[in-house]
Amino acid sequence: MVSMASSGTSQNILSARALGIVACQRCTKAAPLGTRTCDRCGHKLQSRDPMSLQRVWAYWFVGLLCYIPANVYPMLKTQTLFSTDESTIIGGAVELAHHGAFGIAAIILIASVVIPLAKFWAVAYLAVSVTQPTRVSNQRRQFIYEIVEYIGRWSMIDIFVVAILSALVQLKTLASINPGPASIFFALSVIFTMLSAQAFDSRMIWDVQTKRDSAT
Ligand SMILES: [Zn+2]
Repeated sequence: MVSMASSGTSQNILSARALGIVACQRCTKAAPLGTRTCDRCGHKLQSRDPMSLQRVWAYWFVGLLCYIPANVYPMLKTQTLFSTDESTIIGGAVELAHHGAFGIAAIILIASVVIPLAKFWAVAYLAVSVTQPTRVSNQRRQFIYEIVEYIGRWSMIDIFVVAILSALVQLKTLASINPGPASIFFALSVIFTMLSAQAFDSRMIWDVQTKRDSAT
């Protein structure tokens, strides 16, 4: 994006497409508009992805569907000599808090409830905002998009906690911790939410501005 001389609150934004350039979405190398594949990395070049929003919503819904069983089914199955205990994500966090491990309980709640829900909200908001007028500035929406992209790689922290616990607490007949069915659904939910965020073509955020500029 090239921001031309701005006056007051309105900015005339000249897009790469208007300048006859298309950027590679994978390696960012610029090429003349109409070039089909990137000559550096071989990625398909598209000035805009016409299927972007459909894919965003498709992945988003699958991610949300997987998030429901991820919270309903047990995340951890703890077996000791005398008892078998199953705990869901929230149930496990509450139990940890009861035992005084507030820090770990907070991390689990943030990683498996706050961040996923915030991501669902953010991706849905971005997808809606490019089709409808919004008061939030393009810069702020681009910032929201970058945060969603950035935290994507940290979203599996819950699965790592379960995997590490399962590996550490394997005292055979005395005690064992195994991942419950929720862990698979949680991992799937994270993967589909990441795919949903990746499918979002952030250039659409700026197209709204371009359209508004040309309309006025
Ligand atoms: Zn490339």
